[in-house]
Amino acid sequence: MKRTIDEINTRIKKGEAVVLTAREIADSLAAGKEKEVRKVDVVTTGTMGLMSGTYAILSFPITKAGIHRRFTRGTINGVPVSIGPAPNESLGIIDAFVFGTQESDDDPNYGGSFLFRDLVEGKEVTVKATSIDGTEIEAAMTIDEMGTAKLMSARNCFRNYRAMVNPSEKEFTSIFSNRPFRPNYGGITFSGCGHLSPLQNDPDLVSVGVGTGLLFNGNEGFVFSTGTRCSPKYPNLMTVADMKGMDPILMGGFRTAAGPEVLTTYAIPIPVLNDSILKSVMTRDEDIPLSIADVRDRHKIGQTNYGAVWTGHDEIITEDKRPCIKCKICAASNVCPTMAIKQNEAGPTIDRSRCVNCGACVIACEQGSFKGLLGNVKTSIAGQEREMPIVCRNSNRVGAVRTMNDLKNRILDGSFTMREKVADINP
Ligand code: SF4
Ligand code: SF4
Repeated sequence: MKRTIDEINTRIKKGEAVVLTAREIADSLAAGKEKEVRKVDVVTTGTMGLMSGTYAILSFPITKAGIHRRFTRGTINGVPVSIGPAPNESLGIIDAFVFGTQESDDDPNYGGSFLFRDLVEGKEVTVKATSIDGTEIEAAMTIDEMGTAKLMSARNCFRNYRAMVNPSEKEFTSIFSNRPFRPNYGGITFSGCGHLSPLQNDPDLVSVGVGTGLLFNGNEGFVFSTGTRCSPKYPNLMTVADMKGMDPILMGGFRTAAGPEVLTTYAIPIPVLNDSILKSVMTRDEDIPLSIADVRDRHKIGQTNYGAVWTGHDEIITEDKRPCIKCKICAASNVCPTMAIKQNEAGPTIDRSRCVNCGACVIACEQGSFKGLLGNVKTSIAGQEREMPIVCRNSNRVGAVRTMNDLKNRILDGSFTMREKVADINP
């Protein structure tokens, strides 16, 4: 079987194309409907999780022209930004790069990634800047007053990721968990959405390349280059999209034990151009390898698969107020990486617009006020059988499904058109 994107686009326009989400493909295969799956023209795929490579470029006026030659330092909501590269001499305008992983100077629970969501939600932010002559300026503004507000990625949307454990006898603090890793294989964390992930469905990068259109945090953007640390086994992408129009539910900050991380979401259409892509879109979680690494130096020490971390486990975490004993300090609220838990006299409530279903609250609350089966990973490491509880999921399949559904609807209603790549990604 061989098709082109033009042929598929024509079928979409005529209302003849079969467009399915990666979740629908998996459900159909589980129901024994392989024949129907083989008719698919386009699969919409998605992933949501921690992606450190996300950064913003913002441009905005801060004073009138002709007052200051240039600005050299600045913060937004306490988050240090890099001013430049263009000095905008005497224009009173700042161009600023903001890293999502940059911690705020004032608040360890805030950083660039939290700022990105605040901006997209339309909140007013405080900009402080120092001019070359030492004058300090402060201004309040919203994203609407910014001429440019784009989110970009140095390397995001890896085909899939890894699981992390701590084999040592001491706790280890890392960006790969919301809490320090317990010693002696006491807990495992992982990233990746398995068979839903975009590049898992096009592992040879047949259709995805420079120029491929996608949804980046729910807004239309595109791939502009090969990401850093890209390899044939772990390909990834440099991407860009306008922050104005992003969906705040699909983005934001995530507190890890070693500073803020960046929740980021992608949806990418995979046109089924040949049999090899069809085979990839039919791959089950159980057949997608997931390496287990020692979190201290990230070398591989074991092997499992995405079925072991997702199949039969609860993708959605819920609260149950009844067992709550109203602890003086709520351990669950304390560890929630997105600060999604609100406590009142009745007990805990999860803010669904902020929850990323990581499961940290299920582990933290000993009374069982949070429900969700996270499961254990059983595997042999260094010749010894290990069973490690999943203590934090760094990817959220609920967000991945939300964005792939959205992309499917946009393709079918004609508001999103697939286009040919203009150059290859070179892992
Ligand atoms: S939710 Fe759990 S940890 Fe929080 S106050 Fe209630 S019982 Fe304590
Ligand atoms: S699963 Fe629990 S800890 Fe994780 S984001 Fe949701 S409410 Fe917070």
